Amino acid sequence: MGVMYSSTRGDKNKVTASQAILRGLAADGGLFVPDSIPHLDKTLSELKELDYRDTAYEVMKLLLSDFTEEELRYCIDHAYDSKFDTPEMAPMTEAEGAFYLELYHGKTIAFKDMALSILPYLMTTAAKKNQIKNDIVILTATSGDTGKAALAGFANVPGTKIIVFYPKNGVSPIQEKQMVTQEGDNTCVIGIEGNFDDAQTGVKKIFTDPDFAKELDEKGFQFSSANSINIGRLVPQIVYYVYAYTRLLKEGRIAEGDEINVVVPTGNFGNILAAYYAGKMGLPIKTFICASNSNKVLYDFFKTGAYDRNRDFVLTSSPSMDILISSNLERLIYHIAGDDADKNADYMKKLTTEGKYEINDAMAAKLSNFYGGFATEDETAKAIADLFENTGYLIDTHTAVASSVYGKYVKDTGDKTVTVIASTASPYKFTRSVMAALGKNDEALDDFELADKLSEISGVEIPEAVTSIRNAAVRHDKVVAKDALADAVREFLF
Ligand SMILES: *Cc1c(COP(=O)(O)O)cnc(C)c1O
Repeated sequence: MGVMYSSTRGDKNKVTASQAILRGLAADGGLFVPDSIPHLDKTLSELKELDYRDTAYEVMKLLLSDFTEEELRYCIDHAYDSKFDTPEMAPMTEAEGAFYLELYHGKTIAFKDMALSILPYLMTTAAKKNQIKNDIVILTATSGDTGKAALAGFANVPGTKIIVFYPKNGVSPIQEKQMVTQEGDNTCVIGIEGNFDDAQTGVKKIFTDPDFAKELDEKGFQFSSANSINIGRLVPQIVYYVYAYTRLLKEGRIAEGDEINVVVPTGNFGNILAAYYAGKMGLPIKTFICASNSNKVLYDFFKTGAYDRNRDFVLTSSPSMDILISSNLERLIYHIAGDDADKNADYMKKLTTEGKYEINDAMAAKLSNFYGGFATEDETAKAIADLFENTGYLIDTHTAVASSVYGKYVKDTGDKTVTVIASTASPYKFTRSVMAALGKNDEALDDFELADKLSEISGVEIPEAVTSIRNAAVRHDKVVAKDALADAVREFLF
C-alpha cells in the first residue's frame, strides 16, 4: 500500500502522497505527515555510486510511494538538469574543517531551488493521477527566497497559477527585484504591509476557509501550496543530506555508518526537518544543529522546552530566517509526542491563542540530538569576514549564521564529528550585507554596482540570476494591507 499521509491535528482521513501534495495543507489546518518513515532500502555504500538524480529517485520513491517509477524519473530528470550551474547539483566545499553543502546552484541562487525545481512536476503529475480538472492555484508566503524559486518553477506551467505574497519591507533589494520582474501570464506577486508571519498566517487562513474553497471550485480553481508546509517541498530536501553523506563516504572522509553532524540556518524549520527525516530513514546523523538569527525563538525552545512567539520581530541581514512562527516545527512536535495528533493540536491551539506553549519532559527528552544556537548581527558579519580572510571562501549571511553557531557548538562541546553546514544562498543575493561584513559597503552604489565590486574583491563570478534581472522591467507593483490578501487573490483570479 505504501506510505499514507495524515494531518498533524487529528483529521482521520488518510491521503496518498500525490493527494497530500495537491492539497498542501490538511483541511483542519494541520500539516500532512507520513504514517511511517521508511528506511533506505539500499546501503550507503550502494548509494555512494549514484549521481544526484539517482539518489533522488532512491529517496523519493520511498516517501512518494503512489508515484510510479516512470512518473518520478520524469519529474527528477526535468527538475535536476542544466538549470543548475553544476552537474553535481549540490557540491561541497571544505573550509576551516567543515563541509559547506552549497545548495544555491539552481536558477534563483537559494536552496529553495532544490525542492521548487521539482515541485511543479510533482504537482502536475499528481493532478493527472487524481483526475483533477481545476486549475491549481499555488498560494505562497515568502520571506524572500521561496517566492522567486516558486515563481521560476511554476511560470507558464499549463494548468497552474501562482500568487506570491512577500513582506514589502522585509526582503533584500535583489530578492525583491527577482520577484517583481517575474515573467509569465500565470504569475502574480504582491507586497504586503506586514512581516513574513503576517503573510504566512494570511495564506493559511485562506487555505482553511471552506467558503473560499467552494467559491474557487465553482470558477474552476483549487489551491495548493509551494511553502515547506507542502510535503512535496520536504521530500526532495531529504535527498541532499543523503547525497552529502554519500559524497563524504565516496571521498573517504568517513567510513560507512560513521555519524555526521548537520548545521542548518533555520527559519520555517523545513530544511532541518528534512535532515531529521533523513535521520529517521537511516542516515547516521549525530546532532542536528539548529542555527537562528536574532529572531531566536527556536534557540529558546531547544533550551527551555517553551515556544514563545511573544517578542519583537527583528529585521536582520538574514531576512529569509526572520520568522517567529516556524511552521514545520509542528511536524516535529507531532512526532516527539508519539505521533499524537490530539496533543499536538492542543499545543498549536495554545500557540494561536496565547502565542506560546511548553512541551512536557518526555517530549523534551526526545530532542537530545538537537542543539539550538543563534548568532547576533555582529557575529554573523564576523563569520563572513573571518572565513573569507582565512580561506578566501565567501558565504552569504544565512550560511554565516550557521557557521557562527557551529563555532559556538564546537567550543561548547569539543565535538570533532565530521560536520556538514547547509549553505543556503549565494552571497550575491545579499550583496550589501556581505560587503558590509567585509568592511566594503558603499551607500553611493546600488546593489548591482556593489555586486560588481564584490566580484572584483572575491574573484567569484556574478551569477546569471543577478545579471539577468539588472535591467529587467518591473511587472508587479501591487502592495496590500495584511488583512486584504483574500481580495487580492480574487482580483487576480476572477
Ligand atoms: C528559507 C531560507 C532559510 C530557512 O529555511 P527553513 O527551511 O525555512 O528553515 C535559510 N536560508 C535561506 C537563504 C533561505 O532562503
